[in-house]
Amino acid sequence: MRDMSAKVTLSLLVGFALAGCGDDDHPITPDGPPTPDAGADGAGNPDAPPGAAGTLDVTRYTLAITLDPAQGSYAAQAILDVNVTAAGASFALDLAADVVVDQVGGLAAGHARQGDVLTLTAAGTVPIGPAQATVMYHGDMNQLARFTPDTCPTAFGGLMITTNSHGDTIIDSYNWPFLARRWIPSHDHPSDGAALDLSVTIDAAYTVVANGVLAGTVDNAGGTRTWHWIESHDMPVYDVHIAAFPYVEHDLGTAAGGIPVKVYLYPEDAAFAAPVGEAVGAIGWLGAQLAPYAWEKYFLVEAPICGGAMEEATVVTMDETTLADPTYSRNTTVHELVHHWIGNAVRIASWNDFWISEGFAENLTGLYLLATYGAAVHDQYMSDAWQNAHDWEAPAYDHPVRPPDPEVNVYDIFDGLSYDKANWLLHSLREHIGDAAFWQGVRGFYAAHAFAAAGTDELQAAFEAAAAQDLDWFFDQFVRTAFHPQLAGSFSFDAGTGTATVTIDQVQQRGLARYQIPVDVELLGAAAGQSVRQTVTLTADPQVIAVTPGFTPTRLVLDPDEKLYIDVKCLAPGDCPAGRTCGGGFCRR
Ligand SMILES: [Zn+2]
Repeated sequence: MRDMSAKVTLSLLVGFALAGCGDDDHPITPDGPPTPDAGADGAGNPDAPPGAAGTLDVTRYTLAITLDPAQGSYAAQAILDVNVTAAGASFALDLAADVVVDQVGGLAAGHARQGDVLTLTAAGTVPIGPAQATVMYHGDMNQLARFTPDTCPTAFGGLMITTNSHGDTIIDSYNWPFLARRWIPSHDHPSDGAALDLSVTIDAAYTVVANGVLAGTVDNAGGTRTWHWIESHDMPVYDVHIAAFPYVEHDLGTAAGGIPVKVYLYPEDAAFAAPVGEAVGAIGWLGAQLAPYAWEKYFLVEAPICGGAMEEATVVTMDETTLADPTYSRNTTVHELVHHWIGNAVRIASWNDFWISEGFAENLTGLYLLATYGAAVHDQYMSDAWQNAHDWEAPAYDHPVRPPDPEVNVYDIFDGLSYDKANWLLHSLREHIGDAAFWQGVRGFYAAHAFAAAGTDELQAAFEAAAAQDLDWFFDQFVRTAFHPQLAGSFSFDAGTGTATVTIDQVQQRGLARYQIPVDVELLGAAAGQSVRQTVTLTADPQVIAVTPGFTPTRLVLDPDEKLYIDVKCLAPGDCPAGRTCGGGFCRR
């Protein structure tokens, strides 16, 4: 159990990948709800805006950066290929106030600074269409003393230079959620995808790992080397990632489609490689279920990031402590991999749609575990998620998984609702529409929106098309409404007519006063095999139905297959689905 101090909130920031994975060493528990700025405190960015000030649609960042580890500084040139979407004479980019702009060019004849906004001013009106903007700039890397998940600094993030678990200097960038602006003039919002052409020059003792394909290296005079990486797919700018360290490369194999899988570890940590190899099979499984893996490679790098992992496209960061825990490492490897379909390829349209990215990453990791390791592993995984989701639904904290507009600060929804409850809602949806329609819906969503931005409406439409049914009831009542139904069932039996009268009461004090949802009702008798089921759509409260079971019923179980994210009242374990307990008046997983 951990408290929600600022530093723990930050460890959630990077550690959430594991929420619900079944590893009790990494619980996500809301002992107390985070304060509105807790996340911002944790990331050392208390004034961070919820979205981006940038007004340019960037299509490619061509970034040449020279890193000087001895001085802790860098100098860079960014050429932004952009689409001007509204003709004008000035355009905004996101860039932290402490980054020094030396010169601008392209569409920009001049520039102005205010806070974290860089305004580019053109000589005249720039028409709608493609254009280019150039920014030459320099600054200091974010120099941080050695930290661990338990001592995570408030200033965490951006382009960091620090010390790893073995006392060696390491350079690593961390842009999520809107920290790209600390070192890249950018449109710092997840909906805007851009390709990347990245040249990094640094002392030749370092290995530089970054997004995409290594186009080449050049050894320069003075003992530096330039690494040229190209990511040709559009990705959110929070995916842009540099890690520089004398890494040891571990080749973990080639996945379906010829995708190379490698992990870059500190020399002392070779033992951490094996669990990451899970990615080879997972790429094949997800590719068969969803769509072939679209990216060039799946590499992971070791770095100190306060716990957890981050899904930077094709070059995922794994925290030192994550890698040290084989089960955590395995599950996190798969979670970050799922983001390469949902989150990195299909980008979220708004931070309010954050649940889509993390819900799928959690849910499809679970389905991979189910397919690969069996029902018991999946059941434990889902039980952990169920508990986390319930913990985060504390009255003072609860919010809809998909909050209403306007756009929120993602730190305010960086919690077990966006991960674990979102996972459960997707689980519940799959149980309702069935495996085939679920996967068809996911495939349809991906096919329609890969390398573009999409939100909750688009996801609902994809599932409705796949299931050939209206799903307003589900999205309105479960996704767009906080909390969940709580049901109490009771029955009486008339032996003379053989009729059981089943009454279902809605007892929730929050969420909707009355839900209209389909609920499976099961009556069981004392003898083996005596069971009758019926699906009831709740339209009244209480709802009373008559059932003719053909035996004398002794037990009533609501939602026996646990299809729904609901609570069921109980007096004894017999009122609950098989294998569950009764505690605090409700069935518990
Ligand atoms: Zn994630």
